[in-house]
Amino acid sequence: MADADVIIVGAGTAGLTAAIYVQRAGKKALVFEEAVYGGQIVNTPDIENYPGIAHISGYEFATGLYNQATELGAEVRFEKVLSIENEGAEKRVKTTGGEYTARAVILATGAKNRALGLPREKELTGRGISYCATCDGAFFRGKEVAVNGGGNTALEDAAYLANGCSKVYVIHRRDQFRGDAKEADALRAKPNVEFILNSTVTALFGEKKLEGIEVTNKVTGEKRTLPVAALFVAIGQEPDNAPFANVAALDGKGYIEAGEDCRTETEGIYTAGDCRTKEVRQLTTAAADGAVAAMAACGRLN
Ligand code: NAP
Repeated sequence: MADADVIIVGAGTAGLTAAIYVQRAGKKALVFEEAVYGGQIVNTPDIENYPGIAHISGYEFATGLYNQATELGAEVRFEKVLSIENEGAEKRVKTTGGEYTARAVILATGAKNRALGLPREKELTGRGISYCATCDGAFFRGKEVAVNGGGNTALEDAAYLANGCSKVYVIHRRDQFRGDAKEADALRAKPNVEFILNSTVTALFGEKKLEGIEVTNKVTGEKRTLPVAALFVAIGQEPDNAPFANVAALDGKGYIEAGEDCRTETEGIYTAGDCRTKEVRQLTTAAADGAVAAMAACGRLN
């Protein structure tokens, strides 16, 4: 007897939505999460683009999803999934807590923050370098800080930090933002925000903690030193699917190859959310994937 009908790897928006759909189909969902439920969205201070909800914090959204899934009977275990073996009708999932079997697996592993790859970045992480403005921003109230990136995360981080920090530099490698124009315009209007465009962070200064950064303009070659107490890195995410390459083909960037039907190359193994090859990675598309993958998995079990 399998431990669950469907094992879901990852308790972010895609994974928890899948769990809701599996439970509502009368099947048993077992969700594994290595860190905290909610995935990347927990760090977003204000979600404004989820249909039907004008404003909600990422934490509140994630908690609502978690409660909804568990109240429907989904089990969430905080264990890291180490490997998956395809044994035909059953899939064997090895975690840091033991071994489990299910008739189907949904990989909803999301993606992790991309690092700059600069010398001393690791040592200074937690000492001025941060990948989460809502987690660490309060430590730098009244100080000068920088945000690196041009997507919605960077823009939202900068807006959040501008409320408490004396100055926020937004450093982006192009002169056009990838994130929403509305967010960028709102930032432009703030007196304590300065955009440094066509530029990248090229060096980190400070021994025990970050004391400044070097920024290089890619067009002019000009270098500038900013005496910031913190650098919030918001340059996107990358997937972490290597342990599952034996059951699901990965593309050149490490995303799981699957179309809109969320089916991988292995019968009974599905994928959902940001870890999948796709054009648009949004909360809405993660939730949509979770539903599609769960219904495909449950349809096969029936
Ligand atoms: P993203 O949209 O992938 O943006 C990453 C940014 O970092 C881009 O501007 C990119 O520059 C830059 N970048 C990438 N690699 C870099 C490097 N090595 N050095 C310097 N800059 C680099 O990532 P994100 O902002 O985290 O957003 C991820 C997804 O979540 C997006 O779909 C976003 O819309 C969504 N999101 C939504 C909300 C919301 O709806 N409230 C909030 C946050 C995020 P280029 O532009 O030149 O490529």
